Amino acid sequence: MTSGSHLGRCRCGAVRFVAAGAPLRVANCHCGDCRKATGAAFATFVDYKRNKVDFEGAPDAYRSSKGVERLYCRQCGAPIGYRGDASPEELNLYIGAFDAPDAFSSPTDECHQESALWSVT
Ligand SMILES: [Zn+2]
Ligand SMILES: [Zn+2]
Repeated sequence: MTSGSHLGRCRCGAVRFVAAGAPLRVANCHCGDCRKATGAAFATFVDYKRNKVDFEGAPDAYRSSKGVERLYCRQCGAPIGYRGDASPEELNLYIGAFDAPDAFSSPTDECHQESALWSVT
């Protein structure tokens, strides 16, 4: 895992961000809400302290459930990340929003495995 900055952006580039240093963790979430929010079988998040992420072109946000906001680009609709009151210092960015997602190591956490479409081995 590299310790330098990690650049990211939405599909159209209207939202851009820089995440400084190594993330707290890389995790998969299999919950039904992440499935709906991303359209994918599960979401892979790269978690950072909020103060380590700087946006250039702020994303929009909507409240996807109690105490949870999901960030997205208002122009292209691409999902950017997740902000939950349960982790007030964290910003969980979708790994696909990063320009070089292969810079991160494999996920170490599997969240909501009981909702997983397929078994995780
Ligand atoms: Zn966009
Ligand atoms: Zn989830």
